[in-house]
Amino acid sequence: MNGATRKAQSMRQLQCPTCGRQFEEPASSSLPFCSERCRLVDLGRWLDEQNRLPCDWEDEEPPELTKEPEDE
Ligand SMILES: [Zn+2]
Repeated sequence: MNGATRKAQSMRQLQCPTCGRQFEEPASSSLPFCSERCRLVDLGRWLDEQNRLPCDWEDEEPPELTKEPEDE
């Protein structure tokens, strides 16, 4: 008859992969990150990696930008 062994189970310490901060698991809804902001930072980093692929449309300018609207 010993019900005290499961006491510390609900509070788990996690470490945020973005900022390295330690937080308790129930404190965040953006797991495994400590906050929504850190989740977005990590996502942004990942997208930035994708965008570093060479792009050949860089020196092409969209013609619409140099057009001046003249009718009034
Ligand atoms: Zn964080």
